[in-house]
Amino acid sequence: MTIVGIDDTDSRERGMCTTYVAARIAERLRRTCCRDEQTSADAHDAPTDPIDRLLLVRLNPAVEYKTRGNAALAIHADCDPDLAFSVARETLASLAETVDERTNPGLVVADHDVHQTAISGDVAEFAERAVRDHLEIEDATACCERHGYRSWHAGNGRGRIGALAAIGAWRALEEWTYEFISYREPDSWGTPRQVDRESVFAAAEWGYPDVWDTVDRGEGETVCVPHTPGPILHGIRGDDATVARAVADRIESEPVASSQLFVTNQGTDVHLREGAIETVRDGRAYRLEGWVESEPETRRGGHVFFELAAASVDDDDDPPTDDDAEQPRLECAAFEPTKRFRDRVRALRVGDRLTACGEVSAGTLKLEKFAVRDLVRTERVTPICPDCDRTMESAGRDQGYRCRDCETSAPEKATVPVDRDLEVGWYEVPPCARRHVAKPLVRGGFDAPVHPER
Ligand code: ATP
Repeated sequence: MTIVGIDDTDSRERGMCTTYVAARIAERLRRTCCRDEQTSADAHDAPTDPIDRLLLVRLNPAVEYKTRGNAALAIHADCDPDLAFSVARETLASLAETVDERTNPGLVVADHDVHQTAISGDVAEFAERAVRDHLEIEDATACCERHGYRSWHAGNGRGRIGALAAIGAWRALEEWTYEFISYREPDSWGTPRQVDRESVFAAAEWGYPDVWDTVDRGEGETVCVPHTPGPILHGIRGDDATVARAVADRIESEPVASSQLFVTNQGTDVHLREGAIETVRDGRAYRLEGWVESEPETRRGGHVFFELAAASVDDDDDPPTDDDAEQPRLECAAFEPTKRFRDRVRALRVGDRLTACGEVSAGTLKLEKFAVRDLVRTERVTPICPDCDRTMESAGRDQGYRCRDCETSAPEKATVPVDRDLEVGWYEVPPCARRHVAKPLVRGGFDAPVHPER
């Protein structure tokens, strides 16, 4: 068995896509291995597919070097590691957009089985860190050396980080989903994609919820069709590989040159770690508990901000009080591209208890989803005069309220119910703003009711 890991082949301006390079390597291995098998075996035997699966692994979305979605790829193949290495190296060298100096391809080949025990714990840990943390090129080269993995690179070879992580991912990660990607004819790359919108919406409806994030019904967007100059025509994501393929088949479009199913960690929230407001660091993504500390505020550009505060120092289960003025706070943001999600955030009130999820960047949590745990249901207001229905006035410091005209009085503010536009449970950004690795609520497994966007 051989595991081929590759990364960093594409350029923001010039296109290409590492999934495509992986699909081409798999195709060449199939052709070469099947040809060899046929010449050595009885001509009547159907050749066996040497490719077990292709993994599309999304690494830490906060990494600055990424082109777009920080994807790394692994090919699990039943073939000679030397052959796999030379085929992968040639394909990478010919397809990677190395004219762009920010493209730094890397290839790592492991000549062992894909079973849990065959992939070393060390390599699995490297993959785990690549998903949640930041690594150096030297971390990758040292690990490759320790395990005798063959490697190749161009440019500064940063791609070896992702390539090695893609090898370790099969042991490191537990939850997997699928993406069925259809590719364009090379002559069409860079031209507008010819895809029938209505057929995309109909196919998405047909496949939902086994497939998700195919379209954004609220924004009227075909999310599965990229806008970049690369080779992808559309990518259908979901929990069921057969349904993903069937949805792709239902889409009417320009000719599909080739297609490939990928096993992925997309839609799993594997980038999130449990954290506390006082200890978060930039460039990592968290699940945080806290209380809304300031009224949500819409700023220039339509971005919505509020502050989240840690619990009271006296009691973990209580919101911070005036005595907790020094308690840590974290700015949370729902940026303009998150569209209708911002209405959910604007509906929050001071005192609501939340679990907030997202990446911390420049000291701000970029919200991907949040769970309302407790809603503030009442508020304290100046009392209304029971006789004339007008708002009372203060009767002086600590002397309650009174109505001058009717001579009625009240000892303190009144408690009245507030109408809330939110319910307890999980809210999320819409499909058009979803990060590849973020888990859509429709996938289930959440610890409270869900309010999925579709
Ligand atoms: P696309 O999504 O279009 O395929 P990309 O967003 O995957 O592109 P790459 O071109 O692969 O971006 O660039 C990401 C680079 O960052 C790679 O060289 C990869 O090895 C490196 N990298 C990935 N994760 C980490 C990490 N956690 N720490 C340091 N470097 C990383």
